[in-house]
Amino acid sequence: RKPAPQLKSVAEKPHKKAYDFRELPQIKQLQMHRAAADMMGIENPFFRPHDGLAAGTTEIDGKPHDNFASYNYLGLNGHPDVNAAATAALEKFGTSVSASRIVAGERPLHGELEQALARIHGTESAIVMVSGHATNVTTIGHLMGKGDLVLTDTLVHNSIAEGVRLSGATRINFPHGDLDALEKLLAENRHKFDNVLVIVEGLYSMDGDFPDLKRVVRLKQSYDAWLMVDEAHSIGVLGKTGRGIAEHFDIDPSEVELWMGTLSKTFSSCGGYIAASKVLCDYLKVSAPGFVFSVGLSPALTAAAIKSADLLLREPERVAKLKENGHLFLKLARAAGLDTGPSMGYAVVPVIVGDSASAAILSNRLLARGVNALPIIFPAVPEKSARIRFFITSEHTAEQIERAVAITVEELEALQSGGSAVDRLVK
Ligand code: PMP
Repeated sequence: RKPAPQLKSVAEKPHKKAYDFRELPQIKQLQMHRAAADMMGIENPFFRPHDGLAAGTTEIDGKPHDNFASYNYLGLNGHPDVNAAATAALEKFGTSVSASRIVAGERPLHGELEQALARIHGTESAIVMVSGHATNVTTIGHLMGKGDLVLTDTLVHNSIAEGVRLSGATRINFPHGDLDALEKLLAENRHKFDNVLVIVEGLYSMDGDFPDLKRVVRLKQSYDAWLMVDEAHSIGVLGKTGRGIAEHFDIDPSEVELWMGTLSKTFSSCGGYIAASKVLCDYLKVSAPGFVFSVGLSPALTAAAIKSADLLLREPERVAKLKENGHLFLKLARAAGLDTGPSMGYAVVPVIVGDSASAAILSNRLLARGVNALPIIFPAVPEKSARIRFFITSEHTAEQIERAVAITVEELEALQSGGSAVDRLVK
């Protein structure tokens, strides 16, 4: 037998030694944060398992809790018709389509869902992908490029930021909701770039407010830019019949080049979509990497979203109830002196607390009193505006809302009278 040839070391030149992951600076930093929280006696409020369906109420640790932490906005998750549709699809097609749609993964359900979404948004067409996050990353990443400009509200979702980063386009943020600043940026920069894309959300998931889309449309028309609206939190929520921010402002949907949405909220499924012109959707279907090189949406999830879209249109009373509940929550919270930031009382109401540790402690205390509402802490929001975020759904009762606000007021007062979490530790 010939001896195996000696492999030449690739590391002949001096180089930085590969980290053991335990020594990786970002992992060490995370461990330090966890150790500090342990020292302050703050239990980790994240990754808590729920024992069943999370709707207006949910079960955690074997106990029922009023649930303000799930974006099951219209209460369609677990609806008998949605479950029946998902089960029928599962039985007919199995759990997976086992291929990208472009090769062997296409099922009739995919086209049906895309038509339903296009109908809701009033667009010619739609394209559905396996994740909302991936939809933003791949669509923006693919459509925009070097020499282009993307103007985004500072509070847009991480998936939008990642998409722009991938695209290589220049990104400039404008302060949250500041359309004067957007106009100034367009005036100063339009001539320097090839394509300009403005991205806003239909309802901001941290602050619970939305932009004056009529004005955004006028601006994009004046400066010859494209407009993308992420309707993750506004579809099924805004507009008399839940068709989103276009319906709310009575805007012609064709004024917006890309309507983006997720299937994980109002549609009680999983996945994301772009509703747009036929030409754009057809192009994305043969070229967007996150679509072409990824499996098609699973049959059960597709059928669940179709049925949810159907229920959204057939039962507008769900949308009306959601609005009533959101407005009630906001009214009570404001009357009680809670800091709800710029929330407009549609599905998302933050209660701004201050530092991250206090937000985590407050969330744990709410849980102990039967209210599940999670903290949003740095770096998701600036450290000074850490908050508890309440997701309101059509399933909540007025009593649940009244109780949640009253308990939040009591626990926040108790917390603040003891100083901040850090102060208490130092004392
Ligand atoms: N856009 C926005 C505004 C979101 O809030 C989210 C997630 N909450 C996404 C996109 C990604 O959607 P998904 O969680 O369905 O992947």
